[in-house]
Amino acid sequence: MSDTQNHGFDTLQIHAGARPDPATGARQTPIYQTTAYVFRDADHAAALFNLQEVGFIYSRLTNPTVAVLQERIATLEGGVGAVCCSSGHAAQIMALFPLMGPGLNIVVSTRLYGGTITQFSQTIKRFGWSAKFVDFDDTDAVKAAIDDNTRAIFCESIANPGGYITDLPVIARIAEGAGLPLIVDNTSATPYLCRPIDHGATLVVHSTTKYLTGNGTVTGGAIVDSGQFDWSATDKFPSLSQPEPAYHGLKFHETFGPLAFTFHGIAIGLRDLGMTMNPQGAHYTLMGIETLSLRMERHVANARKVAEWLEKDPRVDFVTYAGLPSSPYAERAQRLTPKGAGALFTFAAKGGYDACVKLVNALEIFSHVANLGDTRSLIIHSASTTHRQLSEEQQVAAGAAPNVVRLSIGTEDADDLIADLDQALAKATS
Ligand SMILES: *Cc1c(COP(=O)(O)O)cnc(C)c1O
Repeated sequence: MSDTQNHGFDTLQIHAGARPDPATGARQTPIYQTTAYVFRDADHAAALFNLQEVGFIYSRLTNPTVAVLQERIATLEGGVGAVCCSSGHAAQIMALFPLMGPGLNIVVSTRLYGGTITQFSQTIKRFGWSAKFVDFDDTDAVKAAIDDNTRAIFCESIANPGGYITDLPVIARIAEGAGLPLIVDNTSATPYLCRPIDHGATLVVHSTTKYLTGNGTVTGGAIVDSGQFDWSATDKFPSLSQPEPAYHGLKFHETFGPLAFTFHGIAIGLRDLGMTMNPQGAHYTLMGIETLSLRMERHVANARKVAEWLEKDPRVDFVTYAGLPSSPYAERAQRLTPKGAGALFTFAAKGGYDACVKLVNALEIFSHVANLGDTRSLIIHSASTTHRQLSEEQQVAAGAAPNVVRLSIGTEDADDLIADLDQALAKATS
């Protein structure tokens, strides 16, 4: 499809980035299961290696199946380019890599996916990077956390697991005032419910493992670039603004303009870190994305019904779903995710930790797994699993207190999901 500008989301989720295979006319995007690509001649090879011509060299860097997915996700998010990689966590490291160096820090929300809290509070220290965790509702605290060594601000649009919505335009203004890129993890919302770039985000990261693939089959990640950040405005981002020794002194921002981050992600990030998405994985995710809007509509409708039912149930202490009128984030949900507040939320069962453990054991349709964004409904008791490595204080701050379970509502019949929760709550709280 050539002109993608004027098409709607439902059209783009099927067509963006794809065209009939030039060799065979195959209508569906083929899985280019190849490691390398034959150069036309030695000059062609040299031009590709010098980044003077765009093409395929080796599948650690680029692959035609993965390239279609990159263009599809970039288009749906309203970005100029995207880099796919092997997982959502790889995408986060790949997003930070060009911005960071030893002694530098990022300012991040306390409300994040548990694995991200661990990655940012522990693992990145090995690179000499650090993260400052701040309550993003406290804008003064966000501003105060930024110092001369800060290189990015990071949050989730709809935060996992607590049904929290970040006020993206407010955070984007703070980032802009400080001359810093805002990175938004849009995994829980998907571009169907929220497009962070429209609200001022510089980069969007995804775990494509979740809703974009949609059926719990493969792990993957993506980084989408808005193309709107001026990497050369200060000397803070030398990887993008200064000569790159590995490419004969090429300056990425000067040479590639708005595509600087994307080219750097492929030419340096994938080349040297090697966190590559494989073409089979890209194929599964392309299959999933074709039905993204259809699935998200059902996910949201089911989540609303289940959350409303739970909120009225006397065996439940509270439900944190931003799609409920009672949520403190209801106004933000209206403004930032008008088509729905996602399908991920938590609730507290009367009876605390023990009742939660009984509940997950008693459910029949809901699967107890460490995943989300599947067509199947999923449940997890975060405090005993994904958020187990955190202190109780961190668990509470992340919306994963011991008495709380997280639901990822699937696309089954809502009445069946409610009946399943009803019988399991009876066993858990009797
Ligand atoms: C799952 C998830 C991640 C990590 O993605 P992986 O594909 O599991 O590496 C990051 N952020 C959010 C919001 C997630 O749900």
